[in-house]
Amino acid sequence: MFKSMNLGDNQSEKTEPTGEVEKVKCLIIGSGPAGYTAAIYAARANLSPVMYEGLQPGGQLTTTTEVENFPGYPEGITGPVMMEDLKAQAKRFGTDVRWGLATKAELDGPPHRITIDNKKVIEADTVIIATGAEAKYLGLEDEKKYAGSGVSACATCDGFFYRGKDVAVVGGGDTAAEEALYLAGLCKTVYMIVRRDELRASKVMQERVFNTKNIVVLWKHQTKALFGDGVVEGATLWKNKGEAHEEEVKIKIDGFFLAIGHKPNSDIFKDYLKTDDVGYIHTIGNSSRTDAEGVFACGDVMDSTYRQAVTAAGSGCKAAIDAERYLSEKNS
Ligand code: FAD
Ligand code: NAP
Repeated sequence: MFKSMNLGDNQSEKTEPTGEVEKVKCLIIGSGPAGYTAAIYAARANLSPVMYEGLQPGGQLTTTTEVENFPGYPEGITGPVMMEDLKAQAKRFGTDVRWGLATKAELDGPPHRITIDNKKVIEADTVIIATGAEAKYLGLEDEKKYAGSGVSACATCDGFFYRGKDVAVVGGGDTAAEEALYLAGLCKTVYMIVRRDELRASKVMQERVFNTKNIVVLWKHQTKALFGDGVVEGATLWKNKGEAHEEEVKIKIDGFFLAIGHKPNSDIFKDYLKTDDVGYIHTIGNSSRTDAEGVFACGDVMDSTYRQAVTAAGSGCKAAIDAERYLSEKNS
């Protein structure tokens, strides 16, 4: 369900130009695969794009090692190197890549007003939102300790490394079911760690899970800790936590996959753009257009379904083409 737009609140808080205001044709917010691809296309279309990288220059892929499913790299590539390549390509065509975080967005233009680091104001004819999404984690210290060494939030990305091994998926929604089914095709045993005695996933996904022999659902289990010498070798779980017959159990696993939901980075845009209940930005039809004129969204911030680097890059391309066409129609 998409929420309706609410222009009232933000309009009353309109930023007055007290400090530096810069006018740009095309502002790109975010420097993941979507942002950089948008930058490459926008720069080549003479839109002189300005990009703000945010707190994670290069985006989510900078937190992973091998990327083996991005076309064009037959031997695979590390996430950080791939993102440096994308950055170099975007800069080669003239993208102005800057350090900075968009802290406020007033999308009632054009021009739209974006505040950077609570100080500088950019007035942009077009805005491309490429701020990505973050997987939710349980909040265990061990998730950080074993990040990239057995802990993952993306089965499609990392499942291949666990072929023939035992893994666990945390969660009971459609994502968890999908991840478990994907992993079941690669791994020996897939444990689903489910905190209640039922799945939240749709009936059809539930049936698929129950009909897959190597998926073992651990009902009413929650994760207490992970263990292993440098890499994940197992998990300690609570069974029936908080009940009289609570007990601790250990499972032997090599991979621990989180699938308890994602959070798109769309908070600062929400007063101007439609989002779904989770916060994914609504785009119109097959385009990257949002409900605000001259504002386009691409990558994980608008895509709850695919969430892959290559799909993010593809949608970044669409956003830049849509921005270019919008400007040329406006100026014709
Ligand atoms: P992101 O990569 O999330 O980038 C978002 C960008 O927005 C960041 O630069 C951030 O700093 C910036 N930003 C956010 N808020 C603001 C703000 N307010 N102001 C300015 N900037 C902002 N996919 C694959 O295809 N293959 C893989 O092997 C693979 N492995 C993965 C491994 C891990 C550990 C993870 C977490 C994900 C993996 N993915 C993989 C998924 C892939 O990383 C994402 O689908 C992709 O990065 C999404 O690209 P994006 O450009 O939409 O957003
Ligand atoms: P979701 O539906 O919100 O499910 C999250 C799951 O994680 C729930 O089972 C929840 O348990 C569990 N969970 C949350 N926090 C937890 C915690 N701290 N500890 C343990 N378990 C925790 O999220 P989603 O599965 O990512 O799906 C999001 C949306 O996308 C849904 O609308 C879904 O239908 C859709 N989607 C659809 C498909 C498809 O149609 N193929 C695929 C993927 C996603 P509780 O149930 O106990 O709350």
